[in-house]
Amino acid sequence: MKKRIAVLAGDGIGPEIMKEGLKVLDAVAYRFGHVFEYKEALVGGCAYDKYGHPLPDETKKTCDNADAIYFGAVGGPKWDALPAELTPERGALLPLRALYGLFANLRPAVIFGPLADAASLKSERLKGGLDILIVRELTGGVYFGKNKVKSVTLQEGAVQGDYAVDYMIYSVPEIQRIARVACDAAMKRNRKLTSIDKANVLESSKLWRKVVTEYVQKNYPQIILNHMYVDNAAMQIATNPKQFDVIVTENMFGDILSDLASAITGSIGMLPSASLSASGFGLFEPIHGSAPDIAGQGKANPLAQILSGAMMLKYAFGLGKESNAIEMAIMGVLEDGYRTGDIASANTSKDRILSTSGMGDKVVEYLRKVK
Ligand code: NAD
Repeated sequence: MKKRIAVLAGDGIGPEIMKEGLKVLDAVAYRFGHVFEYKEALVGGCAYDKYGHPLPDETKKTCDNADAIYFGAVGGPKWDALPAELTPERGALLPLRALYGLFANLRPAVIFGPLADAASLKSERLKGGLDILIVRELTGGVYFGKNKVKSVTLQEGAVQGDYAVDYMIYSVPEIQRIARVACDAAMKRNRKLTSIDKANVLESSKLWRKVVTEYVQKNYPQIILNHMYVDNAAMQIATNPKQFDVIVTENMFGDILSDLASAITGSIGMLPSASLSASGFGLFEPIHGSAPDIAGQGKANPLAQILSGAMMLKYAFGLGKESNAIEMAIMGVLEDGYRTGDIASANTSKDRILSTSGMGDKVVEYLRKVK
């Protein structure tokens, strides 16, 4: 198979971890007989420095011509004071999502068995690891509501700034299409889906619950669906996360809950994500940021970036076997006690603590051994 990949490494640790991500993709290509063509482009602060915009036209063109976008991380203190529309996240990441209609955000919250001790929850609650998939609606709800309402009528006597308003808007098709993504994922796993809303208070949530219920009953009767209010869901994720398999929720609740789920795994450097459009085009990136505090020191954990590459193989290219091979190689590396500094514990022997490139090399070495 031949695929063109837009490589947007970004700022901070982005370029360091991207190098390891590409190293592993090259090893997959070699082993399974594929061709991955990389086209690199600037995004975020480094793009602003060169072109005066965090998402220059050149970069958009590179993405237009690609089969998938492989993204590192953007941002850093150098660009914090720019006007909002020129900051790396607001000026590049949000427009990329909108430009390519990336409405479905898939965020696995996984603890690899050997890392259960490093997680923030007591390890008996995570015995055998953890594997939740959060499916978050990414282009609707309160973060995008302002675009749909042209004007706001202020109460008599009020002046602009007396109060602020955000609209949480969802339409039936928007809910149905994210429900479909979640159901497809659930069908490939344990056929168990939890839909999270605030239907006891919000109108948009009442619609969400009704549409999800009808959609699942009609199209995926094999799936066991349950509903949970977002406040209870936060408590359940923090105390008993293993009850969940696939979670589907709207944009803002998904933003908050997926960060919570990743926090309990205790390993921000381990978690990948995929943002997909209706046609299956996608952007694949680690959930963490550009970590300016450790950039350039060889300390960054490249596994989230490498696992984002595995998600790209699976979701964008349908290469499930290749994706699994990467995950198995990582499992082997961790089982044999290799760690980057962020996931090392007092029990890790010094000779098993690896640098960013050392971890990339180790994954490639174990990939060769995967049967
Ligand atoms: P961050 O995720 O960059 O870092 C939080 C902490 O986690 C830091 O201590 C960092 O050293 C550590 N960390 C993150 N990734 C790591 C890895 N792979 N290996 C080891 N340790 C890792 O979050 P932040 O510090 O709040 O933000 C830094 C910059 O990143 C900001 O400019 C922010 O806007 C940006 N950001 C970008 C994205 C994105 O590109 N999608 C996401 C979040 C934050």
